[in-house]
Amino acid sequence: MENNENKVEKVIILGSGPAGLAAALYAARAELSPLVLTGTEIGGQAATTSVIENYPGFPEGVGGSELADLLSKNAEKFGARFEYDVATSVDLSKRPFQLATYGKQFSTQTLIITTGASPNKLNVPGEKELTGRGVSYCATCDGWFFKDKKVAVVGGGDSALEEGLFLTRYASSVTIIHRRDELRAGALLQKRAMNNPKISFIWDTVVEEINGTDALTSLTLKNKKTGHSSNFPVDGLFIFIGHSPNTALFKDALKMDEKGYIETDKLMQTSLAGVFAAGEVTDAVYRQVVTSAGMGAAAAIQATRFIESEEE
Ligand code: NAP
Repeated sequence: MENNENKVEKVIILGSGPAGLAAALYAARAELSPLVLTGTEIGGQAATTSVIENYPGFPEGVGGSELADLLSKNAEKFGARFEYDVATSVDLSKRPFQLATYGKQFSTQTLIITTGASPNKLNVPGEKELTGRGVSYCATCDGWFFKDKKVAVVGGGDSALEEGLFLTRYASSVTIIHRRDELRAGALLQKRAMNNPKISFIWDTVVEEINGTDALTSLTLKNKKTGHSSNFPVDGLFIFIGHSPNTALFKDALKMDEKGYIETDKLMQTSLAGVFAAGEVTDAVYRQVVTSAGMGAAAAIQATRFIESEEE
């Protein structure tokens, strides 16, 4: 294994979604020459979005991968370095902090964690193959593509109802498929959804299979009470069954909430001095490109101040 342990980086950024790339830009402009361990794909969840129309400054919208490319070029221009690799272990018990990828080891004075969150999957046949071809995990990103189309939403929580209501702007009908006969979502969202003429519910039902070759055409549904299976034709399927933060690496090292999101203070500081977190790894509420990028910038500013305070 190549050992970079003798070199102590000032800042390592784990992850290359909008939070990581904004942190890289700010740390680079502070002349910290940050090293970004990109993870499996540059741009994180945003890069998987076809068009982003709500990132300020792009009135015509911007492709998710194009935005990721612009953000990384922007950071690179000021001196950020990219290592196209995945961190496999982290030792935060001593300083400098130690990190390992499959082939290398790194030491760093500060760490900015921007490993993001991943939408939970149904894990049923057809889901993987038809993602981006009718199956989506983001109504804000993809709702527009279902203008006057028939869509279904899976889930019974606040996200399913809020995003289902959002989808009624475009879709001709929104059918919410929930595995129980009682919603988890709050009363206000329930009332709004129940009163929306475009929204209907299928209760006690799970999606067993997602069907289609080039594009989604129908769902195989199963009623949990009767055991009856049926075919449900649909153009789009939006899955909102919760998110899971990518925090397994830091399990016993950092304070997290009950769902595994890393806890930070207002300054993006985690429970460990010198370790900062930004974006969806710490945010279960907003989950937007612009808010993640803002948090990434803030984390880099704080990491810079932390380094300066140690050098005084
Ligand atoms: P959530 O509250 O965990 O709800 C997930 C939903 O998906 C539940 O209804 C659950 O069913 C269902 N589900 C889970 N696994 C499933 C599976 N394998 N198959 C079918 N259904 C499955 O997640 P969320 O709605 O994303 O909300 C996350 C947090 O953000 C919550 O605290 C929520 O209050 C908050 N939030 C708030 C707002 C708002 O206030 N406007 C908006 C969005 C989110 P069961 O009910 O049967 O468990």
